[in-house]
Amino acid sequence: MENLPCQGCHGLCCGPVPVTAQELRMIRKKVRQMPAKARQELREQRRFPGTCIFFDQEKDKCGIHSARPSICRAFGHFGNLICFRKPEAAKPEHWSAKEAPAGILSVDFTWADFQ
Ligand code: SF4
Ligand code: SF4
Repeated sequence: MENLPCQGCHGLCCGPVPVTAQELRMIRKKVRQMPAKARQELREQRRFPGTCIFFDQEKDKCGIHSARPSICRAFGHFGNLICFRKPEAAKPEHWSAKEAPAGILSVDFTWADFQ
């Protein structure tokens, strides 16, 4: 997939996203594997209202990158998930979830659910 120029966006497209039960399990595992200090620092970062609870403001990137939900992986590459900085990276096909979501990350599931 084409690379996106994410550095400098500061999580502008990282808001509440749908997440499946399987994705929640992967995120929980990832969070629990973080060194305690790094986990606490990520948890306590100040974020703009509406920014994903796992966005790392200091590093300007996803704080759980290898365990991010499938919609995050698809973002920027499909016609219904267009990146406003690089719209040409999106193919015309629309992305759709393979599984029904268990809820919305950052709304239904917060840091307290991943400790
Ligand atoms: S996907 Fe696009 S809008 Fe989102 S952080 Fe990357 S470049 Fe910015
Ligand atoms: S899980 Fe990561 S990529 Fe997905 S919205 Fe949150 S910070 Fe962004």
